[in-house]
Amino acid sequence: MLNFPYPYEDELTYSILARASAHFCSFSHKTWLELTLKNRCAIATIDFPSHLDELTKLFFLGGISSELLIYQHTLFPLCSPFIPLARKVKCIDWMKAKSNGGTHLMSGWAASRLPKLQLIRYCPMCISEQIDSYGEAYWVRMHQVIGLVSCTKHNCLLEEVSQFNHKRHRHEYYPATTVNLMMPPRLGYDEFDQRLSLPIQSLLNRGSHPSPSYKQWTSYYRHLIQQSQCTKGKYCSFEAVKEKVLHYWPEAWLKQYNLWPLDSSNSWLHCITRKHRKSFSYLEHIVILHALYDGSWEIEDVLEDVGSIKNIHTPQLDHEIVLNTQLNIRELKAKWLQLVKVLGTKVARATSGGGLYMQLYRNQHSWLMKLNKRYRRPIDNMTNRVNWHQRDIETTKRLIKARDQVEQDLLLPRQSKLWFMQQLPNKAAIEKNLHKLPITNKFLNVYQETVSEYQIRRITRVLTYEQSLPFWMLIKHAGLSEERMTDITRKLCELHGFV
Ligand SMILES: [Zn+2]
Repeated sequence: MLNFPYPYEDELTYSILARASAHFCSFSHKTWLELTLKNRCAIATIDFPSHLDELTKLFFLGGISSELLIYQHTLFPLCSPFIPLARKVKCIDWMKAKSNGGTHLMSGWAASRLPKLQLIRYCPMCISEQIDSYGEAYWVRMHQVIGLVSCTKHNCLLEEVSQFNHKRHRHEYYPATTVNLMMPPRLGYDEFDQRLSLPIQSLLNRGSHPSPSYKQWTSYYRHLIQQSQCTKGKYCSFEAVKEKVLHYWPEAWLKQYNLWPLDSSNSWLHCITRKHRKSFSYLEHIVILHALYDGSWEIEDVLEDVGSIKNIHTPQLDHEIVLNTQLNIRELKAKWLQLVKVLGTKVARATSGGGLYMQLYRNQHSWLMKLNKRYRRPIDNMTNRVNWHQRDIETTKRLIKARDQVEQDLLLPRQSKLWFMQQLPNKAAIEKNLHKLPITNKFLNVYQETVSEYQIRRITRVLTYEQSLPFWMLIKHAGLSEERMTDITRKLCELHGFV
């Protein structure tokens, strides 16, 4: 596409499309998606965008590959070193073509305990600099990283764009030029940001490298725990590791990023010091690495060392594995038997016996399975049963409230069934069980906005500020095209003398 803008340094892919849509004066979000990504239903994603192969075709002189966009203009580099190779390859394939949310699942981002960013963030001083240098503003990738609260270049707190609502405008690219710079920048030094910015910057700029396996990460942490003298005999001393972590990262900070509590046997800190069976987020790795290295370390060196470990069998060093003697095994078995006799297997595992179950599962698997079969109890579903009628009424009330709140808002996207359901806190559960919710279903069928109604709303929106436009300009401002205009919309335009 002639004059399609090239990315700036550390600019989000989302931002390139947002800037371009402003350059090309695109009025319709969906037409813009069709024109650029060849898919009217693509979601304007900030972190892990898709359809990048289509996007690369738009740069008139070429020179930009999908891989370059992924590694320099998305947040994927924060996940890629910490997930196994097969998953990384799959994520990249999805981002190049169609993803359907697969990248968020496969990269571990959806399941990660870290809070998800709901709004776009920016540094007012960076925006001013961008306008001075380039004549336009853009969204910076580093500002969207969870864990950072300030721009470390200016020591300025990041601001959130309050007008941006991704839940409402899933197909809209919101340009940074709309940022209000009337408010003075809030200067502030954050010691945790100073600690985090370097490893995060290194991860973002690292480019494509082979991904270490779970075995390599397990070996690396075992060795590091020994090196930092956090061991008790040949086992890991969790208390010593925890003490080091708390020395650098206080409870309040950990809570802010859902990295608290640390004590339960299933906590992330326990799991990361044991044999790795799943991926951990960049923030979890940074927190423990910074603590175990007492602050003097570099993520580049760590990743190089992990990658150089051979995938060989390493001796066990787990604080929970103390099953060396037959005596211990007998004790654990007796404890588990006592629990399941009283509670049944499922409840015993879910309550106090979780850790015990895991130890026996790993070491006495066939004995455990046989015993559990004998003490299995049917779960009393009666107590957990959902009152669907009550839920039906509550959901309908919520939908009525959502409809009333936006009644005067002419800027909203089409209020389809999906749009209404997205306004609910439990969208997935409602969508899946819609057949059990007759009143909700009725509401959605009656109050969903038809395509004609939506087109008429957009025309009305334009007419509220300009009545004497020629027909071609009216439909352009309303983001419509003659081919997609329904008969009813056309009739309305004819009646008002526009055609
Ligand atoms: Zn800044």
